[in-house]
Amino acid sequence: LVARMRPFGTTIFAEMSALAVRTGSVNLGQGFPDTDGPAAMLDAAAAAIHGGRNQYPPGPGVPELRAAVSAHQKAFWGLDYDPDGEIIVTAGATEAIAASILALCEAGDEVVCFEPYYDSYAASIALAGAVRRPVTLRAHAGGYGFDPAELRAAFGPRTRLVLLNSPHNPTGKVFTPDELAQIAALCEEFDAVAVTDEVYEHLVFTDADAPHMPIASLPGMRARTLQISSAGKTFSCTGWKIGWICGPRDLVSAALRVKQFLTFVNAGPLQPAVAVALDSPPSYYEAFRDDLQRKRDRLCEGLTAAGFAVLRSEGTYFVTADITPLGGTDGVDFCLALPERCGVVAVPTQVFYDDATAGRHIVRFAFCKRDEVIEEAITRLARL
Ligand code: PMP
Ligand code: GLN
Repeated sequence: LVARMRPFGTTIFAEMSALAVRTGSVNLGQGFPDTDGPAAMLDAAAAAIHGGRNQYPPGPGVPELRAAVSAHQKAFWGLDYDPDGEIIVTAGATEAIAASILALCEAGDEVVCFEPYYDSYAASIALAGAVRRPVTLRAHAGGYGFDPAELRAAFGPRTRLVLLNSPHNPTGKVFTPDELAQIAALCEEFDAVAVTDEVYEHLVFTDADAPHMPIASLPGMRARTLQISSAGKTFSCTGWKIGWICGPRDLVSAALRVKQFLTFVNAGPLQPAVAVALDSPPSYYEAFRDDLQRKRDRLCEGLTAAGFAVLRSEGTYFVTADITPLGGTDGVDFCLALPERCGVVAVPTQVFYDDATAGRHIVRFAFCKRDEVIEEAITRLARL
């Protein structure tokens, strides 16, 4: 194995899901729903498979999906992207992130990202030979925040990209307009590109401080932003791996240049089905959010009753909790012991930090599960 990949073991998600299967635990670790997405989407996929759409689709993605992404960006975020040249389809957000970084970073270039960060970020930055410059999100009473001075200090002459994930996994933080404006101003000052991971764009709860706002919608930012999302989270089909990138022509064509040699094209019959899902009425998106918000509230109640100090989650599939009141000091040890103690799997957040001390006492629970699964987890956690 090449040196730049040696620090990376098996992903924590695969490791914790395997632990859940091995121990028969309720899996609140890896974030995937346990119900299927909209019936019209599933029917459209079956129809496409039986209708002969089983060969290589066009490299940038099937035209109806690019058109549907374009209409979605306009309807929800007021952003105009030409389906022909400003939108490409990828193998989930994961490939979109990797292709964007590999396309834009020379070896030694720096990528500013907020930690804890989704685990593929560090690996994609390493694959490009780039250097990550983490800015730590710290838990406080109102949620998670960063120190503006620390953010500024992370920028420098080698900064090429800012990798921004909002709503944020694993914390559930939604970046506020003021925080986004600070980031945008630094992108302008240091001539950096923003690569945004917005896979949870439709999961901002009604009690969040602010609605979701793509940084691309701030003045001057559309020209320097690659906006990434995916069908997996919004339409409960994480195994389909259909994602997309929207941005100005020059940046999108750079990402496409790389993407064509990573996967060439992606699942042909699933793309028209995702186009159908994106055309869902606004009521679908609202019901989806309300359902997850209710699940969040119930799980938070159960975690609090079990003795965790629950931290605020404003969005995503996830809530984080402090294990200190339960006598825990190390999240990894705690999560490895949890199946034995009560038959539940969670994910330690310290693996998403460069600063090994920052998230040491914090663990993440996923609530994108059927109500009876959440109830079972709550019953088991009460044994702690
Ligand atoms: N980014 C974040 C923040 C995620 O939580 C995930 C997990 N699904 C991904 C990217 C990956 O998305 P995809 O499955 O579409 O590759
Ligand atoms: N995004 C999901 C999570 O954070 C899982 C993704 C994965 O398994 N790579 O749990």
